[in-house]
Parts: sequence; structure tokens; C-alpha cells
Amino acid sequence: MPRRPKRVGPMPRAVVHCRTTEDVQLAIRLARDCGVPLSVRGGGHHWAGLALCAGIVIDLSGMNGVSVDADHLSAVISGGAHAADVAAVADPLHVAAVTGTCSAVGMAGFTLGGGYGPLIGRHGLALDNLLAAEVVLADGRVVVASRDNEQELLWGCDYERRDRSRYPAGTRTSTNVRPDETEIHAVSMACHTAVVSHR
Ligand SMILES: Cc1cc2nc3c(=O)[nH]c(=O)nc-3n(C[C@H](O)[C@H](O)[C@H](O)COP(=O)(O)OP(=O)(O)OC[C@H]3O[C@@H](n4cnc5c(N)ncnc54)[C@H](O)[C@@H]3O)c2cc1C
Repeated sequence: MPRRPKRVGPMPRAVVHCRTTEDVQLAIRLARDCGVPLSVRGGGHHWAGLALCAGIVIDLSGMNGVSVDADHLSAVISGGAHAADVAAVADPLHVAAVTGTCSAVGMAGFTLGGGYGPLIGRHGLALDNLLAAEVVLADGRVVVASRDNEQELLWGCDYERRDRSRYPAGTRTSTNVRPDETEIHAVSMACHTAVVSHR
């Protein structure tokens, strides 16, 4: 599937094609050791090209696994999976996740931005359906943020619904898994999300 061809933003010095969480941890360490900016590319569909930076880009397109638990109406979606990857697994099980209208959009980037689509009238935004997020932190630790664990981090992912008067833009940028130039708190995310039944 071709990515958006429009040239946006800076040219990266290097693109690291990660296959595992350990690859992501290594890329983060490399960026920190070299003192260069770091960004994460999921589906590559952000209008403004926020997935790119002038330093190291972590490309998650090789991490596109999806598993669906139809009995418990939940799905675990890897950080580089697209809406099409989710549909390919969910459709045969007669369930669906809240996705947008474009199958090539990345699920993590879509969810972090709120995520509107044809199902929102009944089931809300994609972010409303986020159950948990596995996140790689700037120090290399992998944590799972959920309602029972690391709630502040899950709240940090939830920047669409946040009270912005309490969370200024700088803090928001550094906690919503989009690294900025000042300090990287959280870098890469995989979603554990609710799905709905079509049975
Ligand atoms: C053709 C088109 C159709 C669209 N349709 C819809 C729609 O129907 N509904 C809707 O809500 N939006 C829609 N969008 C907007 C889209 O949801 C956002 O642009 C979204 O940010 C794209 O996510 P991505 O992963 O594909 O993009 P990317 O450019 O890869 O990432 C977008 C942002 O999310 C971050 N990010 C992505 N994946 C991860 C990850 N695993 N961990 C940490 N950070 C990550 C990136 O660093 C970047 O800041 C559409 C966009 C396009 C171009």
C-alpha cells in the first residue's frame, strides 16, 4: 500500500525498520546516545507528516500483527498495523473495531488522534474503545497502561479528551507518545482495544 507521496517536513538521517519491541528499545537508545531527534511512524498518514523528524525515525510498518478475541470483544493491535490489518482478522469473526474510512491509516496514530469513523454514532471514538496501551518509554522500559496500571500514562495517550487547561501543549506533546525535541517520555505504542459484534 503506497504511503502519502507528498513531501512533508524534514528528511530523516536514518529510518529504523523495527520488527520487535526490542528493536524499538534499541532505536530509542541509539537516538539518545547520538543526541538526535526521534519520531515514530505508524501508518504514515498524518496530514502534517508528524511521524518524520530530522533525526531517527522508528518505522513500525513491520509490526502489524493483530489478534482478536471475539468472545471477549477485544483486540490487540501492534503499533504499525493499519485499519486493513484489523479488518482482515476481525471480519471473518464477525466483529469490528472503530476505524476510519481509509483502510491504509495506521490504527495507533488514528487512535491517538481520537479516531472517528462510521461506527462512532454507536460506539464512540476509537480512543473511547482503548482498553490498554503497551508503551515503550524513553528509558527503554516497556509498560502497559490501563485503567488499573499506569493510569496517568493512559491518560497521556488520551489527549483528545483531556482538559487542556490542565495540560499545556508542551506536556501534552511529551506524554502522548509523540516525542518532541526537549524530552522524550513515551515513544511507541501498541493498542489493546474493544471490538463490537456484528453477529
Ligand atoms: C487519506 C486519509 C484518510 C483519513 N481518514 C480518517 C478518518 O476517517 N478518521 C480519522 O479519525 N482520521 C482520519 N485520517 C487522519 C488520520 O487518522 C491521522 O492522520 C492519523 O494520525 C494517521 O495515523 P498513522 O499512524 O497512519 O500516521 P503516522 O503519520 O504514521 O502517525 C501519526 C502520528 O501518530 C504517531 N504514531 C503513529 N503510530 C504510533 C505508534 N505506534 N506509537 C507512537 N506514536 C505513533 C506518529 O508519531 C505521528 O505523530 C485520515 C488521514 C488520511 C491521510
